[in-house]
Amino acid sequence: MANFFTDNEDLQFYFDKAIKWDKLIELVENNPDDNPYESPQEAVDTFKDIFEMFGQFVAEEIAPYAEEIDRQHPRLENGEVIIPERVEKIFAALKELDLHGMALPRELGGMNTPLLLYSLLIEVFSRADVSTMSHFSFHQGIALSLLFYSILEDTTEMDSETGAIKETRFKDAIAKLIAGEEWGSMDLTEAHAGSDLAQLRSKAEQDENGDWFVTGTKIWITSGHGRYHIVIARSEDDPDLGLDGLSLYLVEAFTRDEQGNKIRHTTLDRVDEKLGHHGSVTVAISFDRSPAQLIGKRGDGFKLMLMLMNNARISVGFESLGLCESAYRMAKEFAAERPAMGKTIDKHEMIADMLDEMDVDILGLRALCVDTAYNEEIARRLDMQNKRGQGDEATQKARSKDIRYRRKRSRMLTPLVKYYGSEKSVQIARRCMQIHGGSGYMTEYGAEKLLRDSLVLPIYEGTSQIQSLMATKDSLQFIFADFTGFMQRLSSTRIKASMGSDKRTRMTAKIRWRALSAQRHLITKIIANKGWALKDIPSGQRMAFLKDWDAKRDFAPALLHAERLTRILCDAAIAEVLFKQIEQFPERASILDRFLERADARTQAMYYEILHTGERLLNDLHEGSQNPPEAANENDEAAA
Ligand SMILES: Cc1cc2nc3c(=O)[nH]c(=O)nc-3n(C[C@H](O)[C@H](O)[C@H](O)COP(=O)(O)OP(=O)(O)OC[C@H]3O[C@@H](n4cnc5c(N)ncnc54)[C@H](O)[C@@H]3O)c2cc1C
Repeated sequence: MANFFTDNEDLQFYFDKAIKWDKLIELVENNPDDNPYESPQEAVDTFKDIFEMFGQFVAEEIAPYAEEIDRQHPRLENGEVIIPERVEKIFAALKELDLHGMALPRELGGMNTPLLLYSLLIEVFSRADVSTMSHFSFHQGIALSLLFYSILEDTTEMDSETGAIKETRFKDAIAKLIAGEEWGSMDLTEAHAGSDLAQLRSKAEQDENGDWFVTGTKIWITSGHGRYHIVIARSEDDPDLGLDGLSLYLVEAFTRDEQGNKIRHTTLDRVDEKLGHHGSVTVAISFDRSPAQLIGKRGDGFKLMLMLMNNARISVGFESLGLCESAYRMAKEFAAERPAMGKTIDKHEMIADMLDEMDVDILGLRALCVDTAYNEEIARRLDMQNKRGQGDEATQKARSKDIRYRRKRSRMLTPLVKYYGSEKSVQIARRCMQIHGGSGYMTEYGAEKLLRDSLVLPIYEGTSQIQSLMATKDSLQFIFADFTGFMQRLSSTRIKASMGSDKRTRMTAKIRWRALSAQRHLITKIIANKGWALKDIPSGQRMAFLKDWDAKRDFAPALLHAERLTRILCDAAIAEVLFKQIEQFPERASILDRFLERADARTQAMYYEILHTGERLLNDLHEGSQNPPEAANENDEAAA
C-alpha cells in the first residue's frame, strides 16, 4: 500500500528523532484536567498514527487522481462556483477524516495537535497534489487566524492557569470552518495593489450605529467562493496614513437561511483560468456595502495581516517541499528506466549530477522548514503562557528571553523558507521535466503539470522579490542596530572559516562569512553613495541630509542585490541547521557534506556577483545622482 510518510526516510527521521515533541506536547497539553494522553509518548504515538493514516490517504486517494484534478476546472454558474467532481469527492473524504481542526483546541472542536504536525501533513499532501493542498489549508488556516486575532484583541476568555478557552468571539465561524462545512479566505489583492498594499482602494465605512461595511473588488482570491473572508480595506481617509490607514475585517460573503440556502452579501465576478493549480478555486469578488466586523484596532490591518501571512509563508515552504519530493521521485524513477547510449540516463554524469543536487536541496529545505516551524510554534505558545500570566515572575522572565530568541530566529528564517522552497520547487520541477525529455513535455507523465503547479509558489503569499527585500531589510537593520557586534561577528566568522578545527566547521563558517561580508559590502556602498551625494548639497543643509535616510533612495545597492544576498542567506542558514544536527546525529554528516559542496560553489558565485555587478545599472536608474567610482575589495575576493 502506498504511503507518503512511511516511504520517506528523511521525513521519518524528523518525526522519530529530530523533532523535540516533548517540549511541544508540554506546551500544547497545558491543561492537566483535559489531557487525554497518559504520557508524552502516547501523544507522539497518536500523532504518528494520524500521520501514517494521512500518508496513506493522500497516496491512495489523491495522488492517483492528480491528472484528473488538473483537467477538471472549477467554473462559475449563476453566480456560484461549481467545484469539479473529483475535488468534491476528495473534500468529502477529507471531511470524514475530520482533520480540518486538528491544531485547534479541543474546547472548540479541534484535536489540539501541535501545528508542526499539520505542517508535516502539508508536505505529504502537496506531494500528492499541491493545489488541492492549498485549497485544504483555507479551512484550518482561517479558523486558526480568527482564534489568534480574537486572543490578540482580547475577546477570548481563557482560564489563566490552563489556557482552556471558555469563550471566543468567532466561535461560530471557527466551528463551521473546521467541520469542513464552510470555506475561508484571505482577501488582500486588488487590481492596483499586489505587492504594494499601500495602494489598496477597497473602502471600509462605519454607519451612525457603529456598524462596518466594506466596498471594493478583490482579485485572485484562493477559496474565495467561501463564506468567511478576512478582508483588508482602507478605513481612514487621510491619504498620508498609507499602510496605517488599513484595517482588517471579517466579512461573511453570504449567510444561510434556516433551510441552508445562501443569502449573498457579495458578488463572485469570475473564476480565474490559471496555468496550473487547478484543484484550488481562485476568484474575483466584489463587496458592495457588505456587512463587516472589525478585527482588532482600526489602522492595525496591515500589521495583523502580516501575522497571518507569516504563518502562511512557512506553509508555502512545506507545500514546496511536497512538490519538490514529487518531482524528484518522478525524475529518479524515469531516469533509472530510460536507456540512452548504452546505459540508463541516471548513469550519465549530467543527469546523475542533477538528481544528486535535487535530492540534497530537498534534504536542506526540509531541515530549514522544520527548524523554522518548530521555533515559530514554540515562541507563539510560550507567548500565550506569558500573556495569561502563567507561572511566577522568574519563570515569565526566562520565558520572555526564550521567546525573543526564537522569534528573532523565525523572523529571519521565514522569508528564507518561502524564498528557497518556492524557487527550488520551480528549479526541481523544471529539471524533472528536462530529465523526461520529450515525454516531459507531453501531458502523459505529469512532469509538465508539476512545473505548471510550481510556478505560482514564488508568486503568492509575497513574491520571491518581496521575500528578498524582507530578508535583506531585516539583516541590514540588525547590523545598523549593533554595528560593533556585526564587525566582531564578521571577524570571528572569518577566523573560524580559515582556522576552524575541521573542514565542516570551516566550510559552514565560510558560507556565513560570505553572507556577512556581502552585507558589509552593501552597507559600505550605501554609506559611500550618501557621502558622494553630499557634493551636490549646499553646505548649510549637509547635516540634515546626512541624518535623512530614505530606503528607496539611499539603499539602492542593497535593493539591487537583495535576491542574491537572500540566496546566500538561505545556503548559510541551511548549512548551519545541518551542521548543528550532526552534533546529535553524526550519521547525517554525509548530508551536510553534500550540501556544503553545493552551497560553497554557489555562494561564491553569488558573492562575486554582488561585488562586481550592478554599478552601471544603478547609474542608469538613478541618472544624475552618480555613484562614487567602484573600488572592489581585493582582500574580500581572496578570502571568498
Ligand atoms: C494562483 C494565485 C492565487 C492567489 N491567491 C491569493 C489570495 O488567496 N489572496 C490574495 O489576497 N491574493 C492572492 N493572490 C495574489 C498574489 O498574492 C499576488 O499576485 C502577489 O502578491 C503579487 O502581486 P501582483 O501580482 O500584483 O504583482 P506585482 O506586485 O505587480 O509585482 C510584479 C512583479 O514585480 C515585482 N516587484 C514588485 N515590487 C517590487 C519591489 N519593490 N522590488 C522588486 N520587485 C518588485 C514582483 O516580485 C513581481 O515579480 C494569488 C495569486 C495567484 C496567482
